[in-house]
Amino acid sequence: MEINQFIELEEQYGAHNYHPLDVVIEKAEGQWVYDVTGKKYLDCLSAYSAVNQGHVHPKILAAMIEQAKKVTLTSRAFRNDQLGLFYKQLSDISGYEMSLPMNSGAEAVETALKLARKWGYVVKGIPENKAEIICVDGNFHGRTISIISFSSEPSYKKNFGPFTPGFVCVPYNDANAIKDAINENTAAVILEPIQGEAGVIIPDEGYLKTVETICKFHNVLLIADEIQTGLGRTGKLFAADHENVKADMTIVGKALSGGFYPISAVLADRKILGLFKPGEHGSTFGGNPLAAAIGRASLSVIIDENLIENSATLGKYFMEKMNEIDSPYIKEIRGKGLFIGVELFPEAGGARRFCEALKERNILAKETHDHVIRFAPPLIIDKETIDWALPRIREVLTMK
Ligand SMILES: *Cc1c(COP(=O)(O)O)cnc(C)c1O
Repeated sequence: MEINQFIELEEQYGAHNYHPLDVVIEKAEGQWVYDVTGKKYLDCLSAYSAVNQGHVHPKILAAMIEQAKKVTLTSRAFRNDQLGLFYKQLSDISGYEMSLPMNSGAEAVETALKLARKWGYVVKGIPENKAEIICVDGNFHGRTISIISFSSEPSYKKNFGPFTPGFVCVPYNDANAIKDAINENTAAVILEPIQGEAGVIIPDEGYLKTVETICKFHNVLLIADEIQTGLGRTGKLFAADHENVKADMTIVGKALSGGFYPISAVLADRKILGLFKPGEHGSTFGGNPLAAAIGRASLSVIIDENLIENSATLGKYFMEKMNEIDSPYIKEIRGKGLFIGVELFPEAGGARRFCEALKERNILAKETHDHVIRFAPPLIIDKETIDWALPRIREVLTMK
């Protein structure tokens, strides 16, 4: 089939809820993907950081195949031999006592919100149905109706109301705004330590620490959504680690499966996660043995292959080199680890045309919002590959 035929099939028979670059990928390995014509590209999106371990990592693949031959789904009506080991590994790596496995990121966010509300009622003593959760402008936590209820992005919400009540939005990077919004009915604050979909927005140093202190002082739970920033992406296990902040709940997803399978989880200590009782929450696929086996292998790869350190070292190098590019379009380059956003001036005409031009030079990156190009290659990337990419990026950022 011709490349246009694949595209036409998608356009004709599929919903148009994305605006993909017109590259049709057929296979992938490590940091590289190949289209149906055999053309090779460097993946600088990593499926929104779900393939931090690199595409089709052989160890995760082997774990998946081995488990798929044995048992894939038991439902949580029965126990399985993989889940406890997965829990233990998550706990050993993260320092949290417990976890609750789900599938998509949005489901794990919903789980954390439900848990925060329950904690508000049974521990904090908030009157029934009065719990409030504080969120921040520019947030991205997923696409369910409750989650978009507290989005500040009009296109995520338009025509999807009525919305779920109980959320209060305040400006990001403003700890006082959180303090002012807290009242006796506040159960939790939810935020991304670095905002991904908003365009790699890094708050001022000290913001997270101050928010943590405020939450502790007012008996409010802090929920860190690390679905995109977690598991090494920013050069630490969690982005909150840059400020030695430990949220009451941390939400992980995406790279928890190395891109093989949707796996997410809420991590917290027993005093919080222990509040769920049988029948109050669940998921048919959440915590299934196939997911648990894949999750275990994915976590092992991150640790065994020093991907967190590689992200820190090569992220710094990539940013330094990118900063040497003399381009009239660049407003700001910001990032932590291999999580880098290049914000362009509005006069540059939007990030999309730069992403198209990068594609022509065998680099896949995606605009986020209108003016930011996100560079987030798999964490297995090496210096040689970055040196291969840099002149191409320079060429694009200095084109007419
Ligand atoms: C991707 C993402 C989600 C949603 O995850 P899905 O698996 O797409 O539901 C939630 N929060 C953040 C920060 C994300 O980047």
